[in-house]
Amino acid sequence: MVGKITRGRIVVICLAVALISSEYFLYKYSNWRYAYTEPLNKRYSDFLPKSIPPGNESQYDITLKMDPDGMFNVHSSISIKNTSADPWNELVLYFIPNMFTENNNPKLHEPSKISIDRISIDGNEARFTLDKDKLTVPLNKELVPNRVVVAEVSYQFTLPEGGLRFTKSNGNYYLAQWYPMIATYRDGWNKRDFRLKGETYHTAFSNFKIKYDIPKNFTIVTTSEEDLYPSKSQGHIEANNAKEFFIAILGDHQVVEKKLGNINIRVFSVDKNKNLNDIIEIAYASLEYFQKTIGPYPYKQLDIVLDESGMEYPGIVTANSINGSSSIGTDALRRMVVHEIAHQWFYGIISNDPFTDAWLDEGITELAAGMFYSDYFDEDIAFEEEQYVHLPLPVNLPLDKYSKNQSSYIYGKSTAMLWKVFEQNGGKTTVEDFLKTYFNTYQYKEVDTKEFIRFLKYYLNITDNSLFSGWLVLDDKE
Ligand SMILES: [Zn+2]
Repeated sequence: MVGKITRGRIVVICLAVALISSEYFLYKYSNWRYAYTEPLNKRYSDFLPKSIPPGNESQYDITLKMDPDGMFNVHSSISIKNTSADPWNELVLYFIPNMFTENNNPKLHEPSKISIDRISIDGNEARFTLDKDKLTVPLNKELVPNRVVVAEVSYQFTLPEGGLRFTKSNGNYYLAQWYPMIATYRDGWNKRDFRLKGETYHTAFSNFKIKYDIPKNFTIVTTSEEDLYPSKSQGHIEANNAKEFFIAILGDHQVVEKKLGNINIRVFSVDKNKNLNDIIEIAYASLEYFQKTIGPYPYKQLDIVLDESGMEYPGIVTANSINGSSSIGTDALRRMVVHEIAHQWFYGIISNDPFTDAWLDEGITELAAGMFYSDYFDEDIAFEEEQYVHLPLPVNLPLDKYSKNQSSYIYGKSTAMLWKVFEQNGGKTTVEDFLKTYFNTYQYKEVDTKEFIRFLKYYLNITDNSLFSGWLVLDDKE
């Protein structure tokens, strides 16, 4: 039986129809999340980011000389300012080359040879201890907050064959984490034990001046935006506000270049059979997308070296294999390049400790790459939670708490669960807007899980932690 429709009911129904259709229209044709809220700037003006201070500020002034036989001579002068609240009686630095010597890595076919000639503090010779990758230099005079000390280290090394990132292969040399890097300082020195899986070093944004001298038949490709092609065998290059400084020294290779605005993209390969045009095409498209979606890429040059394990460094990435195994296929290589390029923002510009919060840069990088793929390959965004139901642990444990499946947690489950949060809150449009806001709020700052979730909850206007239960460990008060 159909009831009698009163005039009041008709008004209510008309209003409801109007509301539903306008909401549908807004949902379909505009960024509806903000259709009913204040403009972005106003909305975020009362949010105060609480980033994690690095505890020091450093400038590296390094001279690097390579002999034709592959011996490197280095003199590194590091000016270090104590920006923590504590006085220091020692400096703690990473010295990762030492992890590839015969002593520390007996399985290597050709281990690295290392010798430290001299360390000085403010010009005076200093004693030091080197244990695995931990270089400790006691200070005769306490370094109080806001004071600067200059540490100088002279050393030689050869690169191992089959190392990790710090390695050589087929006459090409890859210098990753090749100089003593000052650790960050929290309530003490934040130096974790080295591991071959994941990134166990964490450094602050620093300035670098590098003077190099290499044999004539090599090409140098680095973090700096100043290196030219063909490169000179001697030169002086710089990089500012960079977490580290990577150098590739290549023998025979092929190269292609392409400009995106004032950014020069270069793709190098030591494998003459690789199709570089294919790679530069997707590098160009992803750089364009990430700049538009997240924020500006900070350098005038982006280098992609198609050799070695997939890895991000400021201004330069490597891609060819996973953890030193054989080369991956063309499609996987394209995706690896995009992933490493996305790291330029999430690692290169927004920092996090990759030992304690590896999921943060990896998960957000994967999420950003997924948004790009959905446009570029016209594919569905498919980060599926079901794939990870067999993984019971949270994704934000320190690396030494994962005995197996570390990558499935850090890259896979983290991204799927993050996507699920966004999927319930507007989907791709929200992710893209979030990435831009996150970038604007935390560029050149460090974030940890706690701060990231505080910001995400504020952004999505969420008050409880139910969306994070089962995949993140959070303090009760967050
Ligand atoms: Zn990554």
